[in-house]
Amino acid sequence: MRILTVSDFDIALAAEALRSGRLVAFPTETVYGLGADGFNPAALARVFEVKNRPRFDPLIIHIARVEGLELAADLELLEGEARRKTDLLCEKLWPGPLTLILPKRREIPELATAGLATVAVRLPDHPAAQKLIALSTGAVAAPSANPFGRLSPTRAEHVRDQLGDRVDLILDGGRTRVGVESTVLDMTGPSPRILRPGGVPQERIEALIGPVAPPQETEGPVNAPGQLKSHYAPRTPLTLYEKDAMIALDFDPRGACLFFDGASRDRWLQGQRDLPGSGPFPGIRVLSEEGNTTEAAANLFDTLHELDRLGFSRIRAEEAPPSGLGPAINDRLCKAAARE
Ligand code: AMP
Ligand code: MG
Repeated sequence: MRILTVSDFDIALAAEALRSGRLVAFPTETVYGLGADGFNPAALARVFEVKNRPRFDPLIIHIARVEGLELAADLELLEGEARRKTDLLCEKLWPGPLTLILPKRREIPELATAGLATVAVRLPDHPAAQKLIALSTGAVAAPSANPFGRLSPTRAEHVRDQLGDRVDLILDGGRTRVGVESTVLDMTGPSPRILRPGGVPQERIEALIGPVAPPQETEGPVNAPGQLKSHYAPRTPLTLYEKDAMIALDFDPRGACLFFDGASRDRWLQGQRDLPGSGPFPGIRVLSEEGNTTEAAANLFDTLHELDRLGFSRIRAEEAPPSGLGPAINDRLCKAAARE
C-alpha cells in the first residue's frame, strides 16, 4: 500500500490504478471511500472481499459531475413527479452528502447493486474526489474504506490502520469535513424515503421537495447497512444514554464519557462528588462545545477512533438532539452500541 498526496500528479496516478482494476482509497467530504471502477466486476468483487462486506449490501456509485448521473442511472424510468424532484435535488444539493436511489442502467454490473434494479449514486463535494473520478471511468463505486461494521475512516491513517496492504493506494486529503456518511434517499418508491440519515438533514430535503418518509425498520433482504442493527462499531463496548441519564452517571476512571455538548459535560461535572482531584480527565470528550450538530457530526468518528485507541474499558455516549445532523449522529451511535 502506498500513501499519495492529492496533487494533480498523484491523482492522475491513482486514476490510472483505478482504470487498471486496482483499489484506491480517497477522501470525500463525508468519510474516506474505498474506490473501484464502477464498471469492472473483478474490481467490485475485491471491494467486497477487502471490506469483508456481505454481497447483499449494494455500493454507492460516485460521479464527477451531475451530467455523469446518466452513466449509472436511467432517469427515463422515473415517473414524472419523482423525476422533477430528482432534478431539483441534483441541482440544489449536489455536489454534497446526498445519495439518490434511482433506476439502474444495464452497464453497471449486478455486483455493484447486489442484483437490485436500482442504483445508489452520489456526487461528492470534494475536489480531489471529483478529479479522480473524472480521470477514471466517471463512475467509481466507493463504500467507506473500513472493514464492514467498523468505525468509518475520517483520516488517511484510519484507512491505513484498518485496511493496511489490502488497499493498493490511499490519497491523503487530511481530515474529512462532514464526518458522517451521506443521507441515502430512495426516489423509486411511491414517495421519496430516507433509507439512512446522513450528512444532509431531512429538513433540508423537505424544504426542496416536500415531505419525505423517514427511515423504516425493515426485515426484508433489501438493506442499507444503515438498516443493519450493528454497524459503525468501535472495539470498545459503547452504551448510548439520553441526556438526563448521561448526566446522572457516576465517574468511572477506566471508562470514557462522550458528551454531545459542553453544557451536558458541565452539568455532569457539577454532580460528581468523588472525582479524583480536578480535571481535565482523560476520557471526557465533547462532540461540540456549543451543541452544534454539524460540528458534532464532523467530530464523531474521529473522536470514537481516538477513544478506541486509548483502550478504555467502555465508552458511555450521550444522544444528540433530533434536529439537523442529530439523527445521523444518533443512528451511528445507536448502531455502534448494538453488539450483534
Ligand atoms: P456505504 O457503505 O456507506 O457506502 O453505504 C451505502 C448505502 O447505500 C448502504 O446503506 C446501502 O445499503 C445503500 N444502498 C446502496 N445501493 C442501494 C440500493 N440500490 N437500494 C437501497 N439501498 C442502497
Ligand atoms: Mg460504510
